[in-house]
Amino acid sequence: MAERPYIVGNWKMNGTRAMLPEARAIDRASQRVMKVEVALAPPYTLIHAVHREVEQIGVGAQDCHPGEDGAHTGDISANMVADAGAKFVILGHSERRQDHGEDSALLSAKLDAALNAGIRAILCCGETLTTRESGNAEAFVLGQLREILPDIDNAADSVTVAYEPIWAIGTGRTAETGDIEAMHGSIRRLLNDTYGEETGSQIRILYGGSVKPDNARDILELENVDGALVGGASLTAESFLGIVLAA
Ligand code: PGA
Repeated sequence: MAERPYIVGNWKMNGTRAMLPEARAIDRASQRVMKVEVALAPPYTLIHAVHREVEQIGVGAQDCHPGEDGAHTGDISANMVADAGAKFVILGHSERRQDHGEDSALLSAKLDAALNAGIRAILCCGETLTTRESGNAEAFVLGQLREILPDIDNAADSVTVAYEPIWAIGTGRTAETGDIEAMHGSIRRLLNDTYGEETGSQIRILYGGSVKPDNARDILELENVDGALVGGASLTAESFLGIVLAA
């Protein structure tokens, strides 16, 4: 586990203003657990409200447009999410890859837009069950990352990686701890090869996929697991704080 684990809640397409008290409760409790870095990624419509509600925790976006502000009806730029209070954006989540056909070229453009707007990125990767069962999970995941890792000097400040096996997302199924550790070790080697050991060793690698209060500790104590990206269990302060406290 990292010295200061990073626990990020991804609210996905959930949340109205009625959820602001959950954000406030998460923030207040997190102020007493300074050894953990806590953040929430609410939907666009709540970024500014959550940002105003909290003092300690980070606020981020779940996506951004790859371009600059302009004539793109219904889209939201990196500049706009930064202005609303987002300090990071989640990119490459498997739900966006599936629902919106997002590929590496688009994700690289989104990443450039985020970095230009001064916000960090959580880059998601993960294999399907078919890929895992065929024994190609590692090659697939490392390939996804190779295509989007940015060629920049300050990667440790700008980029976090999240490994999320698709078959473990929202299913209640988590990967075996041995498989998580093996994949995170491979990702670490890729980061060291790409950026050199000094930077590569500082880039945080989160695990995501049905992380809950009762399995968080076992996952977070694994080597090269620096935190968690949490979906379902981040929707109530009670369950999310259960994970924060386990870290
Ligand atoms: P889950 O989602 O915790 O509900 O499995 C994780 C994610 O998709 O980031």
